[in-house]
Amino acid sequence: MKKTKSKNIGIVGAGIGGLAVAIRLALKGNRVTVYEAGNDVGGKLSELHAQGFRFDKGPSLFTMPGLVDDLFRKAKKNPRSYYQYQRLDPVTKYFFADKTEFSVPSDAEEFAQKGADFFGVPSESISKLLKRASKQFYETKEPFLEKPIHNFFSIFTLENIPLFFKLPQFKIFQSLHQRNSADLKNPKLIQMFDRLATYSGSSPFEASGILQQTAHLEYNLGAFLPEGGMYSIAKALKQLALDLGVEFNFNSKITKINVHQGRIRSLKVGHLEQPYQTIICNADNHTAYESLLHNASTHIVDDRKEEPMSSAPLVFYWGMKGSFPQLDVHNILFSTDYKKEFDELFHENMAPLDPTIYINITSKVVPTDAPEGHENWFVMINVPPRDKKDNWFEKREQLRKLIIQKIQERLGINVLEHLVFEDSLDPYTLEKSNGAYRGSIYGNRSVGAWSMFKRQTNQSPINGLYFVGGTVHPGGGIPLVLSSAKITANLILDKD
Ligand SMILES: Cc1cc2nc3c(=O)[nH]c(=O)nc-3n(C[C@H](O)[C@H](O)[C@H](O)COP(=O)(O)OP(=O)(O)OC[C@H]3O[C@@H](n4cnc5c(N)ncnc54)[C@H](O)[C@@H]3O)c2cc1C
Repeated sequence: MKKTKSKNIGIVGAGIGGLAVAIRLALKGNRVTVYEAGNDVGGKLSELHAQGFRFDKGPSLFTMPGLVDDLFRKAKKNPRSYYQYQRLDPVTKYFFADKTEFSVPSDAEEFAQKGADFFGVPSESISKLLKRASKQFYETKEPFLEKPIHNFFSIFTLENIPLFFKLPQFKIFQSLHQRNSADLKNPKLIQMFDRLATYSGSSPFEASGILQQTAHLEYNLGAFLPEGGMYSIAKALKQLALDLGVEFNFNSKITKINVHQGRIRSLKVGHLEQPYQTIICNADNHTAYESLLHNASTHIVDDRKEEPMSSAPLVFYWGMKGSFPQLDVHNILFSTDYKKEFDELFHENMAPLDPTIYINITSKVVPTDAPEGHENWFVMINVPPRDKKDNWFEKREQLRKLIIQKIQERLGINVLEHLVFEDSLDPYTLEKSNGAYRGSIYGNRSVGAWSMFKRQTNQSPINGLYFVGGTVHPGGGIPLVLSSAKITANLILDKD
């Protein structure tokens, strides 16, 4: 990177993307000020403390911790002085509709062996898939995840020529489900690998087969849990940003990004106009267009708004009395018919009648996350993005009953007998608290081979305005949000 002239940069939002880009730009000597509507950092990655329980409210699966550590190393700091994490083994415990259970070991070779015995497939089919996922991940990482993509032609560069010859291997025109089915044969194993599409809020029956490489992150590189929970990632990044001189303004909702003659002018916060020549928006991209840029020059339109949206969450935070040895840290109670579940979710626009349930219990490995003799259950299902006519108060109650019933049937646990604390998050409350457009977690979802070219770009057509975070390129989830921060910072630094 070139040596740059110091700039005065305003950032809207202190989510993981806002924090990471602030750190990268402060490291290059820029004056960075972050305006956050909430009262602290983290955005979707926030936490809840109540009655002796601690819950991570959003992300629970931590992959590629090296990407977080990199930010500290760039600042010549030891990441371990800021936060600690441990590797989880097993990674995830799966409960299938036929009442069989399979725990994925953290070692990929062991997974292939154990999986072969359990699912009755050759161990090579699993190990071959995982090795190929790793190879393809590293082959596509730089052009697709670390560089800006403005449109389809952005990837037509000389250095990408070798990649084009490999395109047929990536099976971009197959769905993830078709690709997994061809490789794995066993329906339960296919369902396990199909689930990876949900990490971008997408359906395995629509998303491109290239997403199979996501398997590399969880099954080869592993799943991790920070000491003190996921929120300690946000706290550590905030501390690093403060150490680098980043200024934070909390409870400072930006109400407008002022634009004049195609160039940004200022941020409106309260009655004040703060002038900036460079602004980075970490708020949800569709919401930003709708409510912050609403009267910018007329030719600036949110042309990606009509693209299909990713799933939204319904989460229950349950304080449970007792201990439940049949469950691990990450647990998945699969639906009987995965295709039907995604058809209902994305095509019938309804909460699935038989939803896959995810249960995360950090107190299994962080005992301080629950009072003695208790566990902190984070229970989530995927639901469609909010519709204006939805009544989430009613829906939440109906779905709560359904989830409790399914847990009773599958695990033999009567939730209501153990429940001592309860809170929840739904598409409506996520939109209200975070600004997530229609309560959708990851912005637009992946549909077909061309999705990556249809995502919101990191650089706006408005001069001086940039975007960062899970609703823009390259995508949602902590690892991709950190990549997004790298891309956006480089766009700004390279401009000098
Ligand atoms: C229930 C749930 C489960 C998830 N599980 C996982 C997981 O297991 N693993 C994983 O990697 N990812 C997971 N994710 C996704 C992950 O949390 C997100 O992709 C990531 O945290 C998004 O970060 P971000 O920087 O894009 O912005 P956000 O976290 O959305 O932060 C945006 C910030 O902008 C602020 N803001 C918005 N509007 C304004 C305004 N006008 N003025 C000032 N500030 C504003 C908001 O208050 C917020 O703090 C999950 C998300 C949810 C909700």
